[in-house]
Amino acid sequence: MRVCLLGYGLSSLTLAKALVNQNIYVEIISPKKNQKIGLSRTLGISKSNINFFNKNIINIEKLLWKLKKIEIYTDNLKNEKLLNFEKNDDQIFSIIKNYELHRVLEKNLIKSKYFKTKYLKNVNISFLKDYNIIINCNYVNNFTNKYFGKKIIKEYDSFAYTTVINHKEILNNTATQIFTKRGPLAFLPISNKETSIVYSVHNSVKKVNDINELIKQYNFKYKINKIDKIENFELKSLNLRSYYHKNILAFGDLLHKIHPLAGQGFNMTIRDIKVLLNVIKNKLDLGLELDSSVNTEFEKNVKYKNFIFSNGIDLIHEFFNLERKTKNSVLSKSIQILGKNSSANKAFIKIADEGIFF
Ligand SMILES: Cc1cc2nc3c(=O)[nH]c(=O)nc-3n(C[C@H](O)[C@H](O)[C@H](O)COP(=O)(O)OP(=O)(O)OC[C@H]3O[C@@H](n4cnc5c(N)ncnc54)[C@H](O)[C@@H]3O)c2cc1C
Repeated sequence: MRVCLLGYGLSSLTLAKALVNQNIYVEIISPKKNQKIGLSRTLGISKSNINFFNKNIINIEKLLWKLKKIEIYTDNLKNEKLLNFEKNDDQIFSIIKNYELHRVLEKNLIKSKYFKTKYLKNVNISFLKDYNIIINCNYVNNFTNKYFGKKIIKEYDSFAYTTVINHKEILNNTATQIFTKRGPLAFLPISNKETSIVYSVHNSVKKVNDINELIKQYNFKYKINKIDKIENFELKSLNLRSYYHKNILAFGDLLHKIHPLAGQGFNMTIRDIKVLLNVIKNKLDLGLELDSSVNTEFEKNVKYKNFIFSNGIDLIHEFFNLERKTKNSVLSKSIQILGKNSSANKAFIKIADEGIFF
C-alpha cells in the first residue's frame, strides 16, 4: 500500500506518522525544503486528543505544558470572571510549541523505512497512478486549484497576532481568555516563565506597537520582562464542499479552517485522523486495497460533524461580537449563570475535549 501526502505542515506529518505506524508506505511531497515555522505559534490540544496522539501517533508527553484551568473574562463584565473551566484538579488542555511538534514528527519519520520525502514545486495528474490514495494538505498546488476550489468561506476582517511573553517565574497552569472590545485575547502558559499570546484583532487596530500596548493593558498576572517578535495571520473560516475527488482526499486546514478563539483547528484534524485511521484499518483487516472508497467513507463519517462544529465555533465568535457591540452586560450575565450550572459547565468541557455538540 502506498499513500502520498502533499504538504509538509503539521497535518501532513501527523497523518504520515499515523500511517507509517500501520506499516503503510508514505511519501510526502513538499513544495520547499526547510520551510520556516513561526517560533511564536503554539497549539492547545485537548486531553482526549493527547491520549490518542500518545497512543497512536507518537508520545509527546515531554513536550507538553499541562493546564488545569481555563478562565474566561469579557470587557463587559470588567474584572468579574465570565466562565471558569476545571476538572477535579486534572489537566484539561495542554499547550505545545508548533515547531517542537513539527521537529519531533520529522525526526521520527526520517528514521522509518516506510517513509520518504520528495521536494517538488508542483505535481501533475499522471502522478496519481503510483499511489493507492493521495492526501492533499497543501493549499497551493494543481490538485487544490482543480478539485478543491468549492468552499463555504467567511472572512473575519481580523488578524491573529501571536507572540511569546517572557515573565517572572510563577505557577503557570491556568489559561486566560479575555473577550476584549477588539477581539479575543488568549494568554496560554507554556512554562512557568513563558506564556504564548494569541490576540485576534479587528483590522481597525494595525500597528504592532498597539498590540504590545494592548497585551500590557490586559495583562494582570505576569511581570513581563520581554515580548518576542509578533507574527500575524489573516483569519477566515472555511469548509470544503467536497472532501475528495476520486482517490485524492483534502485534509487538515485545507478541509476546514476555523477561528482560533477556541483553539480547536488542529484538534479537529486529530479527530479526522482518528476516523480516517479506523476506515483504513478496517479495509486492511479485511484484506482490501486502499482506494477511493476510503475517501467516500471518511467524508460520510466526518463531514456533517465538522460542519456543525465549525459553525458552533463561528456562533461563539458571533455571540461575543454581539456582546461587545451591545455594551451592556445582559448577555454576559446569562452566560455567567449558565456556566455556573455544573451540567452545562461539564458539557462545555466535553465539547472542547471531544468535539461533540450532540
Ligand atoms: C493564531 C492561531 C492559533 C491557533 N491555535 C490553535 C490551538 O490552540 N489549537 C488547535 O487545535 N489549533 C489551533 N490553530 C489551528 C492550527 O494552527 C492549524 O489547524 C494547523 O496548524 C494546520 O496545519 P496544516 O498542516 O493543516 O496547515 P499549514 O501548517 O497551514 O500548512 C499547510 C500546507 O500548505 C503548504 N503551504 C502553506 N502555505 C504555503 C505557501 N504559501 N506556499 C507553499 N506551500 C504552502 C505547506 O507545505 C503545508 O504543508 C491555530 C491557528 C492560528 C492561526
